[in-house]
Amino acid sequence: MGKKELKFNSKAIHGGQQPDTAYGAVMPPIYQTSTYAQPTPGGHKGYEYSRGANPTRTALENAVASLENGNFGMAFGSGMAAIDAVMKLLGPEDEVICTSDLYGGSYRLFKGVFEKYGIKFLFSDMVNMEELAMKINQNTKLVWVETPTNPMMNIIDIEEVSRITKEHKVLLAVDNTFATPYLQQPLELGADIVMHSATKYLGGHSDVIVGALAVKDEKLAEQLYFIQKSSGGISGPMDSFLTLRGIKTLHVRMQRHCENGESIAKYLENHPKIDTVYWPGFENHPNHDVAKKQMNGFGSMISFVPKGGNYENAIKIVEKLQLFTLAESLGGVESLAGHPASMSHGSIPKEEREKNGIVDALIRLSVGIEDVEDLIADLEQALN
Ligand SMILES: *Cc1c(COP(=O)(O)O)cnc(C)c1O
Repeated sequence: MGKKELKFNSKAIHGGQQPDTAYGAVMPPIYQTSTYAQPTPGGHKGYEYSRGANPTRTALENAVASLENGNFGMAFGSGMAAIDAVMKLLGPEDEVICTSDLYGGSYRLFKGVFEKYGIKFLFSDMVNMEELAMKINQNTKLVWVETPTNPMMNIIDIEEVSRITKEHKVLLAVDNTFATPYLQQPLELGADIVMHSATKYLGGHSDVIVGALAVKDEKLAEQLYFIQKSSGGISGPMDSFLTLRGIKTLHVRMQRHCENGESIAKYLENHPKIDTVYWPGFENHPNHDVAKKQMNGFGSMISFVPKGGNYENAIKIVEKLQLFTLAESLGGVESLAGHPASMSHGSIPKEEREKNGIVDALIRLSVGIEDVEDLIADLEQALN
């Protein structure tokens, strides 16, 4: 049975992998080397210098490509380095249309770095497809989608967006960090590029910073490999190994993340001190139907606003949490809480933030895989 035909859980463990050719090591060795001996000039075995390629990184790149049903994968030193590589496909005068409530770091990279090089960034909620189509002109080269969005948990219909990008011959890239390929496979829904902050669910243990891309198209892969090798934002052998190790349990972790996420979302929804809960699994979530159509579950990222909440009492609640750690990041086995207005989205101007619903009282949870009763008890004491 070819590994391409394996089902998802088997692919998480075996996808793109083979025993090491040197000694048959079942797990990919950490090839902590910058260079490779050549018996004769140019007579290398596929590896000549580790910026270009390294066997441990290749193993990770193949695993990500396999999980996303892509043909090619690239691993980077961070999610931001992966996004940076995608933006380097573009040049001056080119335009990018992005989802309006974007990961803070992506917003900073686009506006703070790439705008200087003459690339223009436009924003759209991508719920109204006509509005999206109207923003496309002959300079538009890329549509950048994040779904579920961070931290408002809006869902964007990838298939609908891809219909528009294909019609206008514009590339579509999806930041799949929140959903992971376990819940959503953008390349299957018409995207050209899928991007990950593997720092989050793919790695899953909050012990690495790694980014990844996967694509189907060979020409696009060649361009991205060229950028990866030229700019050099690669993930190192140790980080590649750790991420790969994390990926091998992605499916079991995600299953528990989803179960715990659902229990916590429902607990918060019924709590008298909570005003609004943002989680795409609720039937009254504005894009629930799209989530149901394109995702295999609703994940464990939840945002909520306490009743009559403001900046001060949101801070008080996150400080009171004990089992939930107050920290940036998400997607690890441990539960984390964050305050977007002062933390992850602090780099976005307040008016921009509030336009997208990121009010000062908003709290974001990354629900881990602990016993859910303990997590609920922790929320209960903090809210009271
Ligand atoms: C964390 C994150 C990134 C950035 O990834 P790093 O690994 O921190 O560089 C990009 N997009 C989303 C949605 C993220 O959560």
